[in-house]
Amino acid sequence: MTGLKTAADWQASAQRLRFSSGGFIDGDFRTLSGRELISINPATEQVLAAFPAASEANVDTAARAARHAFDDGGWPRMAPQQRAVVIKRLAALMQTHQDQLALIDTLDMGKPIAESAGFDIPQAIAAFQHAAEALDKRYDELAPSAEDVQVAIRREPIGVVAAIVPWNYPLLMAAWKVAPALAAGNCVILKPSEKSPLSALLLARLAAEAGVPPGVFQVLPGYGDEVGKCLALHHDVDCLAFTGSTRVAGMLQVYAGSSNLKRVWCEAGGKNPSLIFDDASLPSAADISALAIYSNQGEVCIAASRLYLHQPIADEFLTLFDRAAAAFVPGDPLDPATRLGPLVDADHLARVQGFIQRARAGGLKIRHGGEPVKVDGKGFYMRPCSIEDVPPQAEAMTEEIFGPVVALARFADEAEALRLANNTRYGLGACLWSNNPARINRLTRRLKSGLIWVNTWGEGDVTVPFGGMKASGNGRDKSLHAFDKYTDLKTIWQRFPADEG
Ligand code: NAD
Repeated sequence: MTGLKTAADWQASAQRLRFSSGGFIDGDFRTLSGRELISINPATEQVLAAFPAASEANVDTAARAARHAFDDGGWPRMAPQQRAVVIKRLAALMQTHQDQLALIDTLDMGKPIAESAGFDIPQAIAAFQHAAEALDKRYDELAPSAEDVQVAIRREPIGVVAAIVPWNYPLLMAAWKVAPALAAGNCVILKPSEKSPLSALLLARLAAEAGVPPGVFQVLPGYGDEVGKCLALHHDVDCLAFTGSTRVAGMLQVYAGSSNLKRVWCEAGGKNPSLIFDDASLPSAADISALAIYSNQGEVCIAASRLYLHQPIADEFLTLFDRAAAAFVPGDPLDPATRLGPLVDADHLARVQGFIQRARAGGLKIRHGGEPVKVDGKGFYMRPCSIEDVPPQAEAMTEEIFGPVVALARFADEAEALRLANNTRYGLGACLWSNNPARINRLTRRLKSGLIWVNTWGEGDVTVPFGGMKASGNGRDKSLHAFDKYTDLKTIWQRFPADEG
């Protein structure tokens, strides 16, 4: 049905929408006692919801409830098939509420409804379905041993997992953590971003309706430097599952080190290269390269924000790329035809504009776009932007801008392309456009990147791991590998008494 809805349909649904507020703690919605949290629709600049965020005391209550649910409750102890039933029920409820979930994320952070309804929410549902399907298909091990000994190697849930997630894919990033962590038998406290807290609260309601017991899944909307920090320092939290910036990922490791050495899994930032060779199919390379930097307003960790062009085809490619970029016109995110919504808020728009201004002041040429604009007189929009001939050390080439801004540069040969691509502290995603199998083989081995796309960008499904190398993080979301993050290995060496008979 979603695909058939018009802008007017979505707007009418938005008028009827009611948001939950507060926090979901120990099985109930509660009024929180922290600083006020104000959620603003970046397309209209109007307040969507305002309520007190979580405080340190609220974190403590939730952490104790989770500890109790894990140490004394049924969730970690029940038969996996029983947990699977509950998680499948949650996935089914999400399916029933998928338009509502999509609408909430679009209103809360500005992504086009075509993306939230067509990608984010179906993928979030798939994460829960996959986790439920997978959880009783993983076996423990018996090690080879002498006859009078049995050595079991068991995977057990870690305990209390705090999932701290960003605003660019609010529900999807949460689902990639919460689904496998719950499936593995943990208790999870989800802290959504202060910029996009609302879909997590609906998820909490659906989880309770599905039968997730009190204390097993809780949601604490709140500020990073208060609620996030407090969770990261808390002694009842055993594991942090984080998606966000590399800066905060580093801080979490310090908090963990200065508290209880909790596990810290980080999906962090990216400054992802895309290499376009002269043997590539240029029309599709240009179309997909525009998508790779301008979809979701460039607020994408895997955005291909460094575009390196083989000299012989650079001009021809750029003509095609400009044409593809022109399709990203700022527009109402509730219109299914819109491909570029507003940036998440005024601060972020100002931050992205700062990069463009400094590039211009530093003598770089803005090839197209970059201007802030309003749609119907409102919103934190900007035109998609490209910056020409950006040198390797320039800020626009090294820093994650996290907006619709691409840095362009040219290379002479494969060796230079590889050097430029790997010349970064990040290692999340990389794209390679070529039809030369030997080159593809060489480069896919030598690019330092957790994800590599050849002649495409951004494709993947719930069965493949997602995550980065270097300062882009550790551990992987999605796939069976995600379970590794939420389980600990236990070795049980059992000696059998000598048998008289
Ligand atoms: P952010 O690091 O500012 O915030 C992420 C989360 O951390 C938020 O919930 C925030 O409240 C919390 N936080 C902030 N300060 C904290 C602190 N001191 N202690 C504990 N928690 C704290 O990132 P953002 O602006 O929300 O998101 C954008 C970033 O996320 C980009 O760098 C992007 O690349 C990254 N990201 C990475 C992936 C991935 O899979 N690698 C996916 C999506 C986004």
